[in-house]
Amino acid sequence: MRTQPPEPTRIEIEDRYLRCLHCSRDQFRRRRMRLETASTTGMQPDWRESAADVFLCAHCGFIHGFLAR
Ligand SMILES: [Zn+2]
Repeated sequence: MRTQPPEPTRIEIEDRYLRCLHCSRDQFRRRRMRLETASTTGMQPDWRESAADVFLCAHCGFIHGFLAR
């Protein structure tokens, strides 16, 4: 069974609808992305994983990202 890409939709964050910074459209596809972040404290690199919600503008492809809480 193939996974269908999610349909573009309006995204509401903090009581505001997300609008593309580039083309001002309001239809996005949602993705969850894993991030690797390196802490600069201490001698040993401290690699940690966190996640971000990214929203791809359905019109121009501009990627908007928010750290997942
Ligand atoms: Zn756009």
